[in-house]
Amino acid sequence: MNERILISGAGIAGQTLAYWLARHGLRPTVVERAPGLRTGGNGVDVRDHATEVAERMGIMARIRAAAADVGGITFVDGAGKGVARIDMGRLGSGGEVEIMRGDLVALLHEAAGSGVEHVFGDSIRALTQDADGVSVSFESGGTRRFDLVVAADGPHSAVRRLAFGPPERFVRHMGHYFAFANADSALGQDRRVTMYNVPGKMAGLYRSGNHAQAKSYFIFRSGPLAYDHRDVEAQRLLLRAAFERETSWRVRELLDGALGDPDFYFDALSQVRMPSWSSGRVALVGDAAHCATPASGAGAELSIVGAYRLAGELATAADHLTAFRRYEEGHRALVERKQQIGPNVRLMVPKNRLGMWARNAFARLPVMGAMASVERLMRPADAAPLPGYGAAVAT
Ligand SMILES: Cc1cc2nc3c(=O)[nH]c(=O)nc-3n(C[C@H](O)[C@H](O)[C@H](O)COP(=O)(O)OP(=O)(O)OC[C@H]3O[C@@H](n4cnc5c(N)ncnc54)[C@H](O)[C@@H]3O)c2cc1C
Repeated sequence: MNERILISGAGIAGQTLAYWLARHGLRPTVVERAPGLRTGGNGVDVRDHATEVAERMGIMARIRAAAADVGGITFVDGAGKGVARIDMGRLGSGGEVEIMRGDLVALLHEAAGSGVEHVFGDSIRALTQDADGVSVSFESGGTRRFDLVVAADGPHSAVRRLAFGPPERFVRHMGHYFAFANADSALGQDRRVTMYNVPGKMAGLYRSGNHAQAKSYFIFRSGPLAYDHRDVEAQRLLLRAAFERETSWRVRELLDGALGDPDFYFDALSQVRMPSWSSGRVALVGDAAHCATPASGAGAELSIVGAYRLAGELATAADHLTAFRRYEEGHRALVERKQQIGPNVRLMVPKNRLGMWARNAFARLPVMGAMASVERLMRPADAAPLPGYGAAVAT
């Protein structure tokens, strides 16, 4: 019986997986490199089957209560005058809710609760598989034995590197870099995302209706840049170099704020595409398996649904190899659909002035018609019901 399961990463995928493994009577341990939960980030969407999973966890009402409550996007010119807008409220078909990433991580952590062992401030240094299990040594120095290991440690997954090979084989650069940071809450329009573009760049402000604080975000087009992805100072320099010559709108203020913010978060817009999500006794879930980028708007959804399926298959299949195969068969079509991010990127960061003009014209079309095409793109590929895996709905 594969009972003792080590999960690397206490993000959205890791917490959801821990919750469901414990609900199915298995024994998850979560190891997280950071000293505590990482609660940064902007709004993420819980929709369609992820909504159903959250209902089954008994937390959907709390997710709705904490909703970011953002009404839409306003595109502005250099003087801050609105030139086009998209109202997101009319999109929702799957009972979807946008929630700040940190609020969602905290809710999932609370739901996973005391039945799950959490180890913060440590990470996996090496692992060795054999027929009966996996011997894991940790950066802190200890060694422990588990039946299975699951990587839920994001797009730069250390476990994926150990069990599957170097990232160059699986990580695809999508031509852009992005950054998120905290911003002055006096800036921007309440309950709206405000975006300012120059060709190939976007600076934006995110003002949730539920939080006093504002978030800034930036995207710029670029081929792959050489830097250590863990070196935050190098990341700040790259963002500065991309935006320091932009003086219109609020770009200067947002940039200064972001560069001084301890929660500053920067990464390449890159996707993870793996031929298989398991190797022996090690499996991948969430961004470690199939990062679609924040531009997909689907990272949370894919993580929640994938983690639910993986836990359910491990609880019901005869062995872990069958469970891993069924998990992948059930989840891959949705992932592939959500990895088609081209239209979203063109909407947020048009390449040139013609693209900006076309985007603004598109956004001015009668709203429902314009949004319908985006909605079709975002809809899951298969509407087959989510398996129950014998777990009663939490109350
Ligand atoms: C700080 C932060 C802010 C983000 N902001 C946004 C946002 O605004 N919008 C958006 O769409 N997406 C954002 N994301 C990404 C989003 O959370 C994911 O796309 C999606 O939810 C998938 O979740 P995940 O659990 O696979 O990955 P994540 O939520 O990224 O969680 C991965 C976890 O693994 C931990 N970890 C990493 N390496 C190791 C290691 N070696 N050992 C142990 N633990 C490790 C990380 O600290 C993190 O807690 C953000 C991610 C982070 C970490």
